Amino acid sequence: MPAAEDEGQPFDRLRANGVSSLALATGSTIGILGGGQLGRMMAVAALQLGYKVVGYAPEGDNVAADACSDFITADWDDAEALARFAALCDVVTWEFENVPVATVRSLPAALLACPVEALEVAQDRLREKAFAAELGGAPAPYAKVESAEDLAAAFASVGIPGILKTARDGYDGKGQWRVRSTIEAGALSYPGVTCIYEGFVTYETEFSVILVRGKDGQVKFWDSTANIHDGGMLALSVLPAGALVEAQVPAARELARKVADALGYVGVLTLEFFATRAYGDKGGPVFNEMAPRVHNSGHWTIEGAATSQFENHIRAICGLPLGGTKTRFEAIEMRNIVGEDALTAHAILAEPGEPHLHLYGKREVREGRKMGHVTRVGHAVK
Ligand code: AMP
Repeated sequence: MPAAEDEGQPFDRLRANGVSSLALATGSTIGILGGGQLGRMMAVAALQLGYKVVGYAPEGDNVAADACSDFITADWDDAEALARFAALCDVVTWEFENVPVATVRSLPAALLACPVEALEVAQDRLREKAFAAELGGAPAPYAKVESAEDLAAAFASVGIPGILKTARDGYDGKGQWRVRSTIEAGALSYPGVTCIYEGFVTYETEFSVILVRGKDGQVKFWDSTANIHDGGMLALSVLPAGALVEAQVPAARELARKVADALGYVGVLTLEFFATRAYGDKGGPVFNEMAPRVHNSGHWTIEGAATSQFENHIRAICGLPLGGTKTRFEAIEMRNIVGEDALTAHAILAEPGEPHLHLYGKREVREGRKMGHVTRVGHAVK
């Protein structure tokens, strides 16, 4: 091999390959706020692309740490620890949408791959619904609830059945109360924190739109899966998603692109929808919520798409060319492994069809806790 090739700086080589001079050089360090499985899979993708990863999260079962060269365990408001973290990083991203905005704002702005407004909007259900509606999206009818009187007024204006959700800090169906009847409404008291009361949507399928947006504003979408939930938590994502979802994907993508553009978003962004014939202007998709991050319903992309959501997120925040998002198989199913099922999950490897097993290395098995997932693929797309 000619000596000159060995001497070149990685940065220069990237330029020589036609990649933006703003691309993060090989060997640079990506900081991830949050320590869960999304950070772990993001870190694996970052390692594959030649980056180092440093994580930051409060005390907990931080399974991302296994894939990080350094992991700082400290509270979100620990200024000294955050400064130490920032000093190690060339770029910072998050894997968890409830990282306090003040934490992110305390980091040097130049490190942030994506504007913090994306977190601000997504952390507040009232704000994200209003934001989507302003851009032409159709959320379920809803009302803000800040008192017992508001709750009674919301039952009257929005109607029953419905769902009361805490405006902030909810995930996987936590902080939610279903109201199926006036008897249940009467039994429900105001939870003491700001909430949103939403009309119950009778949908046929839930689906998500996952996109990646590069620093230059280029947007790519993965195919939308049908998402089946169990107890408010994703259980299964399936492709193809069916005719109704496919008919509603264009409108859903249009909204997702507008949201990403309006936020100046960089990285992977997810919007969740209900596919229903009953709501929306023309019976179109009902917007439920957004996640400014990689998403559980996109795990199938690891084996099922030309480029995974994790890799494209890393590519986007590092200023690298985005990879193709095409689906590689005619049929795909991603199933979460929850709670004690993880204890026998290795048996899945003996099943026919070459299932792809992912276990997150969680130290503690708890009922209802996401422990891993398995992706099964059908015939390759010809
Ligand atoms: P969320 O945390 O808002 O994603 O809610 C968790 C799950 O609860 C959703 O994926 C749906 O399965 C269900 N859900 C939430 N909001 C509604 C709604 N307004 N109507 C019907 N089902 C809902």
